[in-house]
Amino acid sequence: MPPSSDHHNRTREERIMTAERTTVGVVGLGAMGLGMATTLAAKGFAVKGFDLAEARRTLAAEGDVSPVASLSEIFFDTDFIVFSLPTAKDVAAVVETNIEALKAAGRRVVIIDTSTSEPDVSRDLAAALAGHGHGFIDAPVSGGPAGAASGKLTMMIGGSDADVALAGPVIDAMSAKALHVGPSGAGNVAKLVNNLLAAAHMVTTGEGLKLALAAGLDPDEALKVLNAASGKSMISEVHFPTWVMNGRFDSGFTMGLMRKDVRLASELAARTGAELPLSGAVAKLWAESPLDNAEDFTRMGAFRPANDN
Ligand code: NAD
Repeated sequence: MPPSSDHHNRTREERIMTAERTTVGVVGLGAMGLGMATTLAAKGFAVKGFDLAEARRTLAAEGDVSPVASLSEIFFDTDFIVFSLPTAKDVAAVVETNIEALKAAGRRVVIIDTSTSEPDVSRDLAAALAGHGHGFIDAPVSGGPAGAASGKLTMMIGGSDADVALAGPVIDAMSAKALHVGPSGAGNVAKLVNNLLAAAHMVTTGEGLKLALAAGLDPDEALKVLNAASGKSMISEVHFPTWVMNGRFDSGFTMGLMRKDVRLASELAARTGAELPLSGAVAKLWAESPLDNAEDFTRMGAFRPANDN
C-alpha cells in the first residue's frame, strides 16, 4: 500500500525504510531507467521493469528487477509507476495505451515521469488521470546514468502536494535532492531551463578552451583556473575532466536527447514571448551541428580541430 499521510513527519531514512512494502513499475530501461530500476530494487522495493527492447529487459533481470514482457503487467497491480522514456510523445502513448487498465484499477496509481518531457503534455496527462482518481507528477532528473545507478539524482518536481507526498519513498530512493518546484508542468519547465544552460555551458567552455589553446595556454591549465574561479559550472567541473579532456565522450547522454531539450526550451521561449538572444545562438549551434544524434552530447565541447581532445 502507499505510505500514509505522515510522510512529512518522518525522516528521509524512515521513509526509505518503507520501501519493502511497495511494488514499483519502471517503464523504459535505457541509460537512465535501468539505473533507477536497479537502485529501487537495491533499496528494497519489489520492481517490475518493462522496455520495448528485450536486451534491456535481460540486463534489468541481472539487477534484481523482474522484467515483464508486456506493459499491462505493470499497470495491472503496481501503485507507483516510474517512466524513463525518450520524449513526451512516448509518455503520452504509454498512458493512452493503458488508460482502460487505469480506469478499471480499484486503487490509486501515481505515475512518476522522470523523462525530460513537455510541460503542456504533463499538465494534460495529470488532469486526465486525476479525473480517473490517479496521480501524475513530472519529475525530470539531472545526474546522468551514474546518478541513476547510485540513487543520487537531482529531481525537479511538478505536481500536487498529495501526489508528491504519496510518491515520497520512491522519490527519496532515487534522488539525493528532490525539489518540488510547483504544480504540474513546473518540473519540466525547470528541467528545460537547466538543460538549456548545460547546453550553453558545453559550448562556452569548449570555446574558452579553444581560445586558451589558440593563445598558447595549455587547456588543462586553463580548465584548472576556470574551476577555481568564476568561469566554472558543473559542465567544467565534472563533464570536461571526465569525458572531454581525455577524449572519452561517453557520458551516456546522447546528442539526440540534448537536441530535443534545447529545441523544447527554444519552443517554450517562443510560446511565452521570452526573448533570449544568446540562447537562440546556442540552439542554432545544437540544431545545426553535423554530429549524429547517436553521438554523446559531450562531443559538443570538443575544442581541438580533430575532435579528439
Ligand atoms: P535511452 O534512449 O537510453 O532509453 C530510453 C529507453 O526507453 C530505451 O531503452 C527504449 O527502448 C525505451 N522505450 C522507448 N519507448 C518505449 C515504450 N513505449 N515502452 C517501453 N520502453 C520504451 O534514454 P535515456 O538516456 O535513458 O533517457 C531517458 C529520459 O531521461 C529522456 O527523456 C532523457 O532526455 C532523460 N535524461 C537523460 C539523461 C542522461 O544522461 N542519459 C539525464 C537526464 C535526463
